[in-house]
Amino acid sequence: MQSVHEIYQVNEKGHLVIGEVDATTLVEKYGTPLYVYDINIVRNNCREFVDTFKQNKVKGRVAYASKAFSSIGVLQVIQQEGLYVDVVSKGELYTAMKAGLPPEKIHMHGNNKSRSELEMAIQHKIGCIVIDNIYEIHLLSELLDEYNQEMDVLLRVTPGIKSKTHRYIMTGNEDSKFGFNLQNGQAKKAFEILQNHPSIHLKGLHCHIGSQIFETETFVSAVQLIFEELSEWRTSYEYIAEVVNFGGGFGISYTKDDNPLARSAYVEQLIEAVQEQTNRLNIPIPEIWIEPGRSIVGDAGVTLYTIGSMKEIPGLRKYISVDGGMTDNLRPALYQAEYEAVIANKANLPNTQNVSVAGKCCESGDMLIWDLPIPQVEAEDILAVFTTGAYGYSMANHYNRFSKPAVVFVENGQDQLVIKRETYQDVVKNDLPYLK
Ligand SMILES: *Cc1c(COP(=O)(O)O)cnc(C)c1O
Repeated sequence: MQSVHEIYQVNEKGHLVIGEVDATTLVEKYGTPLYVYDINIVRNNCREFVDTFKQNKVKGRVAYASKAFSSIGVLQVIQQEGLYVDVVSKGELYTAMKAGLPPEKIHMHGNNKSRSELEMAIQHKIGCIVIDNIYEIHLLSELLDEYNQEMDVLLRVTPGIKSKTHRYIMTGNEDSKFGFNLQNGQAKKAFEILQNHPSIHLKGLHCHIGSQIFETETFVSAVQLIFEELSEWRTSYEYIAEVVNFGGGFGISYTKDDNPLARSAYVEQLIEAVQEQTNRLNIPIPEIWIEPGRSIVGDAGVTLYTIGSMKEIPGLRKYISVDGGMTDNLRPALYQAEYEAVIANKANLPNTQNVSVAGKCCESGDMLIWDLPIPQVEAEDILAVFTTGAYGYSMANHYNRFSKPAVVFVENGQDQLVIKRETYQDVVKNDLPYLK
């Protein structure tokens, strides 16, 4: 398996090149820490998902799970590529509207949607709400009456499958905070409430079994369990689902140990499983919707940091510290995520040492990479961490009152700032003096 960073190019100066732009030029122009997205990669990822449905002549819909990285700029690209967008909050919905997404191309998720979130969804007449629990059904029903409107929904079910991934990103198992349980009859109870509902139109079912999944067996089991349920609902209630949504979770390669399938292979095997189950149970084939997040933006992102202090504990470990860390990339601290990286201004030099990359926060857990082979380095060298495009900037936070980094898009040799670096003034902008 090719190492992740081998897909990037190095120019004659020995500098890393992203989207045909020298990484050191970006650092001079925008400073560090800096998030850089190669937008060609985002576009290709979108197209691979969309085209697989077309090539298989199956009615499908690809919605980008915008929690992976939500900004006006990226959602403009997503819209240009014809994708729908999933949101889980007013902030994400507002961003999608600001990016110019037509409301009917927006779907809303969440295990605890508030009255005001549902109201905003209704006011903007978004395309679909994915219902998570009974409380939400009552709340939505009440609000739709108030607004004298109707809404298309999917019912989120948990099929009781443990996907092979980290516990924190596993969502289809029985003991989950998300959705209606298929096995214990909760899903059927919800269906009975919605079956002849005057304002809520049940278009079908939704399930999202987890994230960073490398195989298709769990998707195939989910397909089987969902269609068995739908077959029962057809027999008992003559219900035919127009849509089944299988969520996201398609894995990507962070290090050479990760071996994901091609995006097209995930979709093809889903389609195949749906065709098999619908044939077997003799039910019409519904539209197949998917919601990739990580696999759209993850490998398009690179984070650039400036190296500062270094320390060696003889016989134990060498630490190099960078000017960011868990405030711009929480994943290593949150779920022991691993990354590959290179020295962007020395990308052609041989690796001569193993170091551990530390962030700046006052936490021993603020480590970005534990064992990284690199050449000899000094302060002011640039570290480029690969595959940071998903759940990186979107999880950035203000711990230690660090300001959030800038985000730059590069495409075919052009670079453009799409999120400004926060200032210290931005960090205190909501603080008010205590007047007592
Ligand atoms: C997070 C999430 C996704 C996207 O997951 P990825 O692993 O980023 O593809 C899709 N659907 C739902 C409901 C989610 O919660």
